[in-house]
Parts: sequence; C-alpha cells; structure tokens
Amino acid sequence: VARLSAAEDKDSSVNALADRIARLIAAQGPLSVAQFMAMALYDPQAGYYTLRDPLGAEGDFITAPEVSQMFGELLGLWMIQAWRDQGQPSPARLVELGPGRGTMMADVLRAARADPEFLANLDVVLIEASPPLRAVQAETIKYPTIRWVDHFDDSLSDRPLLVLANEFFDALPIRQFVMADGGWRERMVVADDKGALAFALAPEASSLEIPAERGNAENGAVYEISPAREAIVEQIAHAIAHKGGAALIVDYGYGEGAGFGETLQAVSEHKFAGILEAPGEADLSAHVDFAALAQAAKRAGATAYGPVEQGTFLCNLGIVQRAEALSRNHLQSMEDQLNRLVLPEEMGTLFKVLAIVPKGTSHPPGF
Ligand code: SAH
Repeated sequence: VARLSAAEDKDSSVNALADRIARLIAAQGPLSVAQFMAMALYDPQAGYYTLRDPLGAEGDFITAPEVSQMFGELLGLWMIQAWRDQGQPSPARLVELGPGRGTMMADVLRAARADPEFLANLDVVLIEASPPLRAVQAETIKYPTIRWVDHFDDSLSDRPLLVLANEFFDALPIRQFVMADGGWRERMVVADDKGALAFALAPEASSLEIPAERGNAENGAVYEISPAREAIVEQIAHAIAHKGGAALIVDYGYGEGAGFGETLQAVSEHKFAGILEAPGEADLSAHVDFAALAQAAKRAGATAYGPVEQGTFLCNLGIVQRAEALSRNHLQSMEDQLNRLVLPEEMGTLFKVLAIVPKGTSHPPGF
C-alpha cells in the first residue's frame, strides 16, 4: 500500500514539462519566476498557450470581449476617435496583442464600418503566440489583408500605430522579490532530488529601486517587476511618439498607491490551481503594475493617460446608452453583460485602462 501511494503521488505532481524543468534546474541552477513562467506558458511542446484555446465557458477563464460585443465596439470607436484627433493619418496600422479568439478584433472592425475612410488602407496585424488561437482568429476575423506575427518588432513601427491589448500583459512573465532580513531576495524555482519543484529565496540580496510611494516593506513583503512588459510598452510608445497613433491597454491590475503583495496565480477550469504543480496545464498570470507601464511609456517620449477603472472608462464612453439601444433592437436584455463589465464587484474596478498617445495630442475620451 505504501509503495502504491508513493507512485500515485509522483504521477499526480509531475508531468513531462515539470520533469524537463527539474532537469534544467539540476543542470544549470534555479530558475527565476519569470523563466519558469516563460517555460510553463510558451514551451514549444507543452506550454499552456502553445497547446490550448483557454477562453470561453469550457476553457479556463472568460474575458471582457467574450462577455459582450459592446466591449470591442467601444474600444474600436475610441481608436477611431484617436485616429481622427490626429488628422486621420493614412495608411495606419491596427495591431492587437494577444487576440485570443479574435472576438474583440471582429467587434472593432464591425464598429469601424461606420467610417470607411478608417478602414481604407488599414493594415491589420495580430501578435499571437498560440497556433491553435491563430486558427480560431482566422475563422472569427474576416479582413482581406490580415496577418500574424510572433512578436512586436521594429518592422511594425514605420507608420502610425493603433494598438489594442486586452488581458495580454497579465500573461507576460514577472520576477518576484521577497523582503527578508533587511534585503530584497529574488524568489527562485528549485527542484529537490526527486524532481519536485519548490520556491526558494536566492541567497544574495538584489539591489532594486522601489518606487517611494509603495511605502515601507516589512519582512515577507513581495515586490513584482516585469521587464518583459515594460520592454514591449517602451517599444510601442516609442513608435507612437515618433509616428503617431495610440495604444489602449486593458487588464487587471493596480495603479499608483499599491503596497506590496504577491499576485502571481494559476487558474485552471475557472478555479485557482497550484503554480508549480503541473506546469503548462494551468494559466499563469499576475496583476499588471500600470504605474510601471505608464513610466515606461513616458521614458519612450509618449504621454500616458490613466489607469482609470474599466467601469468608469466604459461608462464615460457611453456603454449604458449602447446597452439600452441594443436591448431595444434585440428584444434581449443587455443588462447582465453591462453589469459584468462595469460593476465594481465584477470587472469594473479590478480591471484598468491605460492610454498611450503622442505628446501634445488632445485628451482622449474616457479618461
Ligand atoms: N485578448 C483576448 C485573449 C486574452 S488571453 C481576450 O481578451 O479574450 C491572452 C492572449 O495573449 C492569448 O491570445 C495568448 O495566446 C496571447 N499571448 C500570451 N502571451 C503572448 C506572447 N508572449 N506573445 C504573443 N501572444 C501572447
């Protein structure tokens, strides 16, 4: 009986990717949380996003565009307004980071039919890591010249950029530091001699610049940074500052005034799961530090607005009136969808919106 349960233990705690991660750690030493996340999410054979369509009722989580068409429509109208405010530069490029099932882009392009000039000569580019999701997007979005790329790179920066991202940045890897004995020590992933993964603190303290408004860090406080997120925002903001355009970033997270805390989470089938338990089988994400993203945009020479709460933003853009109009036409109440998107206890407060525009452009709607 003892032997049997030990064998069961091993089966339930280790999958093939966990095995490979443990062997990598044995060979080259502990991984940062960011390196672990990158393997769990993007490993070419077993990464979470490599293999799955995680969205929707049968998937692991549900997002605002999947809740209601109103979300993509209003973001699309916001983008058209930003484009008009900058003198309708053409040809422009519309880019979505991490389009999921393509629902939001389809809603954006449908709303944009109201302005044929916007659609004329518009280059539409989707940045997507997941082959199965690319296939879904190709089905959902009907646009003649649409194309896919793996990463945001400088080849996209030669014309005005209109960038949308919903629940993209939360998926990008973060590093974690823990206050211990008067210093910030990086949290690492280690493996024991049986190959089980565990967290451990790096022996040496790291030198980190912590924003003063975070306040005092007590023993055990956790500070998260994401060089990966900041690098993408800086690149996009740099292009916007020089060529024009706008970016709208929506995600769950915090702005200024945040304290310290750990936000990395694993979600599988709409429930929380263990972070190290079965890498590649659960979604990993962490709250977005919007103050850090706004700083990155400013470093690149652009102006940032927000973050404002999603509920406020959508109400400022007229979502209540839109819901009423749709209810009249469809004889179907849009109230549930509206509530999901804007109520504080639903997505209205936790989710935030950040806009990035060139210096000197007019104040964008919603902020
Ligand atoms: N925006 C969609 C999907 C959110 S899920 C929605 O709101 O429904 C996160 C999306 O980002 C998925 O499409 C995922 O495959 C993609 N993604 C995550 N990390 C990525 C990366 N590093 N590069 C490109 N796409 C990525």
